[in-house]
Amino acid sequence: MPPSLSSRVTSLQPSVTVACMNRAMALKAAGKDVLSFAAGEPDFDTPDPIKQAAIGALQAGQTKYMPTLGDPAARSAIAEKLVNENGIAGLTGNHVGISAGAKHALFGLMQCLFDQPKAGEAQRELLLPVPAWVSYAPLAELAGAKVVEIPTTPEGGFKVTPAQLKAAIGPKSRALILNSPSNPTGAMYSEAELRALAKVIAETESVAPDLAVITDEIYEKIVYAGVPHFSIGSVPEIAERVVTVNGLSKAFAMTGWRVGYSACPGEFGLRLMKGLATIQGQMTTNITSFVYPAIRVALGEGAADVERMRAAFAGRARLITERLQAIPNLEVTSPQGAFYAFPDVSQVFGMVTPNGTPIGSALDFADALLDESLMAVVPGEDFGGCGGNHIRISFACSEAQINKGMDRLAAFVDGLR
Ligand code: PMP
Ligand code: GLU
Repeated sequence: MPPSLSSRVTSLQPSVTVACMNRAMALKAAGKDVLSFAAGEPDFDTPDPIKQAAIGALQAGQTKYMPTLGDPAARSAIAEKLVNENGIAGLTGNHVGISAGAKHALFGLMQCLFDQPKAGEAQRELLLPVPAWVSYAPLAELAGAKVVEIPTTPEGGFKVTPAQLKAAIGPKSRALILNSPSNPTGAMYSEAELRALAKVIAETESVAPDLAVITDEIYEKIVYAGVPHFSIGSVPEIAERVVTVNGLSKAFAMTGWRVGYSACPGEFGLRLMKGLATIQGQMTTNITSFVYPAIRVALGEGAADVERMRAAFAGRARLITERLQAIPNLEVTSPQGAFYAFPDVSQVFGMVTPNGTPIGSALDFADALLDESLMAVVPGEDFGGCGGNHIRISFACSEAQINKGMDRLAAFVDGLR
């Protein structure tokens, strides 16, 4: 008998976003005219000054191991950004850890916050407003968490209310995830809404003294609906239990570089970073050494490029929303940030394609759209909650591709009977 694999890995839910992205790439490589709206990554190239900083460091011989959580200068540059741009007081480089992408940061943070439950002990909970990005729940479960979904709706703007949060918080609560702007819904919380959630967290401290807030702000720069991005980590009453996660992937078009970071002020922040350093010290050590100067250049000099890309995403958001609204049987809300449209396709459940394929779910819809119309999107089931009625369409692509894709989608929906 060949060796078996651990149940940890065989029971782990694979990332559907990564799977869809890979599937579309493979079909394209095989010469198929696939239009991919699956990948959650900017189509832009990394701005040149950022590339030059890495090239310079590589040529200067910055090719050795470095401190596990990052070059002190890069950690300080991130702390400075979070203090000045996000209003998170009291952060120093020592409160910041650099990881190989925000996903890696989240992996490490979950490992630091959760334990595998011991026999007879209650499992600690991750409170997760859903629909939510596909990786939060598996990363938490891998660390021993029980995921408690808090359902949101299109009518409620896909946002958790203070009353819902209050009802969800209990003695077993260990972490709450917030993600504004949101992948996959494009929803954003206003400052007032985040302050109201912060108030609930502060008021329930005696119920859940161990509750940490993980706020994933990776799309903070991709906003276009007049709602300014706000960091809940800047609210003093709860600041020292808020871990802000971010990275360079989306804002600076650097998905392949693998740079993410997390930060938390105060004494807990220092302990958390020590924990993260222990995990990463047994896992990856530092990220690629010659990337550190590029982080500093991106954060220090990247604003004009970020704005150029943001403006492009704003135009694409308008275009795709208009085109989707014109397709009968789809319900779409306007995204406010990130680069995803998240239409409800459930009105066509029960119909069949011209090839006779029944559409009973978002997964069926996405599969048939790829097979019969060569358009790749992500089915919404794995985002949780009402996500099963939706598909996610990444519009991080040209307006020409958006128009071509929307023609295919409209024809596909029109062909259903
Ligand atoms: N958080 C969210 C909400 C995301 O959409 C992504 C996309 N990959 C990540 C985290 C992880 O990004 P990365 O690992 O590239 O920094
Ligand atoms: N975050 C992107 C997405 O949601 C990239 C893939 C992933 O890491 O999930 O599509």
